This record gives sequence, structure tokens and C-alpha cells, in this order.
Amino acid sequence: MAIRVLPSTLVDQIAAGEVIERPASVLKELLENALDAGASRIEVDAEQGGMRACRVRDDGYGIPVDELVLALTRHATSKIQSLDDLERVRTLGFRGEALPSIAAVSRLALTSHAADATGGWSLRAEGGELVPAAPAAHPVGTTVEVRDLFYNTPARRRFLRAEQTELAHLRTVLERLALARFDIAFRLTHNAREVLDLPPARDARAREARVARLCGDAFVEHALHVEHEAAGLRLHGWIAQPTFARSQSDLQHFYVNGRMVRDKLLAHAARRAYDDVLFHGRHPAFVLYLELDPARVDVNAHPAKHEVRFRDAGHVHDFVRHTLEHALATTRPRPGASAPPAARVFDARPAQHALGIAAPAAVAEHMAAYSALHEPATTTVPAASAGLPLGTALGQLHGVYLLAQNEAGLVLVDMHAAHERVIYEQLKSAMQSGAVATQALMVPVAVAVSEREAELAESAAEELSLLGLEIARSGPASVQVRSVPALLGAVDAGGLVRDILADLAEHGRSQRLHETVHALLASMACHGSVRANRRLTVPEMNALLREMEQTERADQCNHGRPTWTQLSLSELDTLFLRGR
Ligand code: ADP
Ligand code: MG
Repeated sequence: MAIRVLPSTLVDQIAAGEVIERPASVLKELLENALDAGASRIEVDAEQGGMRACRVRDDGYGIPVDELVLALTRHATSKIQSLDDLERVRTLGFRGEALPSIAAVSRLALTSHAADATGGWSLRAEGGELVPAAPAAHPVGTTVEVRDLFYNTPARRRFLRAEQTELAHLRTVLERLALARFDIAFRLTHNAREVLDLPPARDARAREARVARLCGDAFVEHALHVEHEAAGLRLHGWIAQPTFARSQSDLQHFYVNGRMVRDKLLAHAARRAYDDVLFHGRHPAFVLYLELDPARVDVNAHPAKHEVRFRDAGHVHDFVRHTLEHALATTRPRPGASAPPAARVFDARPAQHALGIAAPAAVAEHMAAYSALHEPATTTVPAASAGLPLGTALGQLHGVYLLAQNEAGLVLVDMHAAHERVIYEQLKSAMQSGAVATQALMVPVAVAVSEREAELAESAAEELSLLGLEIARSGPASVQVRSVPALLGAVDAGGLVRDILADLAEHGRSQRLHETVHALLASMACHGSVRANRRLTVPEMNALLREMEQTERADQCNHGRPTWTQLSLSELDTLFLRGR
């Protein structure tokens, strides 16, 4: 075939392939245009998952009649004029491609009333062919109606899914933008039925309500608020406590200057911040906003504008990571703080339901009479526990749980998980300050291992010594332990080394020192902490409680499980139907 210039409609259809994948991508572009036009209220009406029709109406400043045709022309935009502008884009759009792309693969009607005009005008395009503009009644603002998407590109049409699936995608797009712009009212209807109605959220409480609406109440309940600004970077939003981690990365919303992005650098920074509080394979949840000078970020990195490039990527990465790490470090037991989510099991299921029997009215009555007669001698909290978030130890349950009493009620601690976290944090800070105290063994301990493990021990010897563990290879399949971290006390050195080498062998020695160190610290902490079924004395238990209060991130062990929970007196009363 000879080389030929393609007809412009075909060019547009090809270009549409890059940005318009399904109705939701149409919606994204139309919503972004409405936001760029300064709208305060945006209404979306979809039919058949947006495949039959998707209409977006806004109250922005509109398009003058003499620019309507331009709006549908490729590479025509009101948002940038020069390379200089491109380097500091403040709007969501700037490529001048969305409307012509959509028009090339649908039947499109653009109706607009510009703010300073006396009336509205409407322009139609079918498969890219324009019908001249005609006057149309419309309040100030713009409505874009896209019908029969892909009617002229059957190959694309075949990729469309069921109506409900496409609707779910529409919803996701709208919800994501609604998280970026709290000041704007959004409404979505589908087949003339209301799906979502979001009033503008003008204060902190209303914003949280919107987040709860879009991300779930549980997310907000377990969210820590983040707000930090330094060196021209501002990061704010909400991150979930590690105990709320998910098996998928579906609740991760990142916005850069109001633009939703799926950015590897940012995702990585967030992931690193959760490094030592999250179990392998779990994903953190967050809604975060990064604000910086537009000149420091290149938004022209992807046709659908999902990705961005930071001019000082390393700096941005560290800023995000440290800010989040700091926020997560605050999850330790504090006076008045609520217990981690395990306690909610009890909220959700009062005792009688758990047992599958409803309390007969007579029993309840009897109980009320009983408690009236036996008004409890006010249980006094030992004076010593006043102000201690985790209270004072009462005893041990089945060698696994520690029971304590604080001002609010009963505290339950998973001894092993809690101790593991305490040791982990102590080891980590000792290591960071380069001062891990070691204790030399009187007699070096010989440990038989596999050859592979012996090799690992040899190659990781230096890192291990930073952690206070001195091992040397003493044969093809044996190593010798010379010292262990003093923090671990009278630990079984052979067992510790075998555990650590097994972990290293299983996870492979990471290229990156920090990841290896993290894994090593974790297995040391795990090995060095009190095992189930070990009897602790009351002073030992109290010492553990006090250490937990002093330890950062003490609310979860380093596998992300909660370390303690609380049953308040009122929860106990509910459990026993007291005062009903
Ligand atoms: P871009 O958004 O990249 O500029 P589009 O093809 O999405 O490109 O839109 C082209 C132009 O049409 C925009 O630059 C803007 O001037 C105008 N426009 C589109 N939608 C609207 C709207 N809802 N309100 C006002 N102007 C709009
Ligand atoms: Mg646009």
C-alpha cells in the first residue's frame, strides 16, 4: 500500500482509542471539563450504564457561541497557549483532545450558555460530522450529551460490559472526583433513578461525612488525619490504621493538585510508610492530597492523564513516606484513645445474639430487679492505674492473653503480639542510633543449617552484626553464633539463628538493605518475644503494659494484627443485660 494521509475522522477515532475506553472514560473527561469551567454543581444522567447516553450538566462559565466549533476541534483548548503554560498546568484538561475524540465515536450534543451571553446555543456532531449551531434554552453553564457510544466503531463496542458493570465504573469515576472536590455538589442518576447525591461539603465534619459516604464508615472510624507542610509540599487527607488493611489496593486514592493519579512513586512511598506495621500481602487504605507548585510536576505523562512525573521525585517520595510514617507512629495506647478495632466484634454482637438465644422478657426483668437490689459496690480502680492507658494487670488467661483493668473497664492484651512489637521497636531504634547492645556468648553456639542457609548467613553477616547478632560460617553446613542482641535477654541463640536463616531463605535476601533489615528485625522480635503459654508474674505483666504505652505503633504487632483491645464497663453491662 502507498503512504497516504488518513482522513481526519479516522485520525480522531484512532486518537479516541487512547483515551475513550468505555462510558466511564467519557464521564471522566466531561467532569474534568465541568470542574475546569468553575462549576459548583454537576449533574450526571446516564442511561444503560452510559452506553446509550451520558449527559453532564454544569453551572460553569460556559462556552461562547463562536467557540463551540473549536471546542470540538482537535488540539483546540482554552487552557494553555505555550510550552511555558504546559509546564505549569493548573487545570485538569490541557490537551484539547477529549471532546473531538468523544465526538468521533458517538452522537454528541454540546449546549452552552456563556456567562456574558444573552442565551444558549447548541451544536451537534455525529461521528465527527458537525451540524450548524442553533439557539437553545439553557441556564449559564454547559451540557454535553453523549449518545450511542462506539455506534460507529463496532470493535470497541464489543468490549463494553453489562449495564451494571459500566454503571459501577461511572460511579467510581464520579466518586473519585467527588473526593477531590468537596466544594462541589454532585448528583448521578441512572435510567432516571437517583444513584448518588452529594451536597457540597464546606466544613471538616461535612468533608468527613462525604469520605464516609464514599469510602465507608469503617474507613473513617479507623482513619488518622494527616496534615503536613514543608519545603513547598503539602500532604493532607486520611490514612487508615494498619489494622484496617485490606487484601486489595482498592482503597487508595491519591490526588496531586486535585488530579487523581495512579502513581507508582506515591504508592511506593505510602507502602514504605506502612513497612513495619503491615502484614505481607495486605494493602493500606488512604485518601491523600499532595499539593505543590504545578511547575514541579509534569502532568503530560499519559494520554488519560493518570500519571504524573515529579521533577524532584526522590524528595517527594521521602516527604510522603516520612509524613505518613510519622502519622502511623502515633498509634500507641493513649489516655482516652479508643481501642483498636478488635473491640468492635463486641459492639456488633451483643451476647444473647452470639449465643443464638434472645433474652426472654422475664429474664430481663429479673435482671433489672437483681441489679437494683445489688447495687454494685463501686468498683474502684487501684489508685496506681489512674491515668495509665492500659491500666494494671489482673492476670493471665490461658497463657495467651493478659487481662488488665483501666479506668474504662477491661483491657485484653495479646501478650506475644504486644511483646513482639515492643522488642521490634526497641531493636529498630537501637539500630538506627547505631547502638545495638550485644551480649557475647560465653561459649559460641554451633548451629547446623543447610548449605544454602550457611551461605546466606555468610553474605548477611555484616547486616546481622549491625543488629547485634554475630554469626560466622564454620563449615559447609554450619555456623557459629558469637553474640546476640542484649535486648533479647536469655534467648535460645541456636533457635534464633535457625529462625532467622529460615526466614531469609524463604523470603530471599533482598537487594535492598532496609528490606532485609526489616525482615531480620521482625524475626528477631518474633523469636525474642514471650511465647504463648509462658507464665508471667504480675510485675512482668505490668512492665509489658508500661512498655506498650511507651512504644510507637504499639497498637499492632508487626504483622498488622491488633495487640490489645478494650471492653468498657458499658460494653460489659450490655453483655450481661445490666441496667436494661
Ligand atoms: P481540554 O479540556 O484539554 O482543553 P477538551 O476537548 O476537553 O480539551 O475541551 C476543549 C475546550 O472546550 C476546553 O478547553 C474548554 O474551553 C471548552 N469546554 C469543554 N467543556 C466545557 C465546559 N463544560 N464548560 C466550559 N468550557 C468547556
Ligand atoms: Mg478536557
